[in-house]
Amino acid sequence: MGRLLLVSLPPTGAVIYRCKHCDTHLAYATDIISRMFRCKHGKAYLLDKMVNVNDGEKDERMMTTGMHTVCDIFCVACGSIVGWKYLAAVDKAQRYKVGKFLLDRAEVLAAVVGAAHTHAATATASSGDEDDDDNQQQSDDDSD
Ligand SMILES: [Zn+2]
Repeated sequence: MGRLLLVSLPPTGAVIYRCKHCDTHLAYATDIISRMFRCKHGKAYLLDKMVNVNDGEKDERMMTTGMHTVCDIFCVACGSIVGWKYLAAVDKAQRYKVGKFLLDRAEVLAAVVGAAHTHAATATASSGDEDDDDNQQQSDDDSD
């Protein structure tokens, strides 16, 4: 294949999620809509925007919140599946997810890029990141 055109997210002081396999930037933590999602590997986040992902085949999946049309999303650099994108939802109450991304937390690393005080910023970011383990309310199990 030809050369990859990777988007590099400029440092804003926000946590940036990177592919754990190849370090490619995928999303800002500030674009997280909800941290209360689950996928088959565990924690997952609903995101407004992601970069450096390719769409896979459209697929109908029954999840705990009903039938959804989704496509898997792949890291453009290494091809790892990092989550999926919602294309349609049967249940009206679930349609806020359409056009949004479900990021598999197990497939990414979080880091603050370009922060002046890396240690402090990383500590704050990772403690905030783990705090919401007890608040799992919504579950979107990918049941295949
Ligand atoms: Zn990757």
